[in-house]
Amino acid sequence: MKNCEKCGGPLDPDELYENAGKILCEDCFLEQKMKPVTCDPWAVYSAKRLSGTAPQLTELQFRILNLIKTEGPLAASEICRRLQINETQFQNCYATLRHMELARGMRDGDKVRYTVF
Ligand SMILES: [Zn+2]
Repeated sequence: MKNCEKCGGPLDPDELYENAGKILCEDCFLEQKMKPVTCDPWAVYSAKRLSGTAPQLTELQFRILNLIKTEGPLAASEICRRLQINETQFQNCYATLRHMELARGMRDGDKVRYTVF
């Protein structure tokens, strides 16, 4: 009898699942399928590779980067006010910039300010 390659549990031949070349039980298979793709190591890797050459930024991401480059470090509220965007828009853009290692947050007392890498 085969065992699940993830949890090591025994597998019935009729409840075998295969994912990325691994034999999995139903539980592990479903768990893998439901994993959010946001923290995919491959995405981090390709984002890093891109940042060395020509980063693919949206216009807003570019404006945020430009602002913190010239006037940073700035708090999120200042960036939002300057660019007329809301906090959610900023956080979404910042997540990408952080991912590409173009922008980072730094502590300033009990506040966080954002600056370039
Ligand atoms: Zn399993």
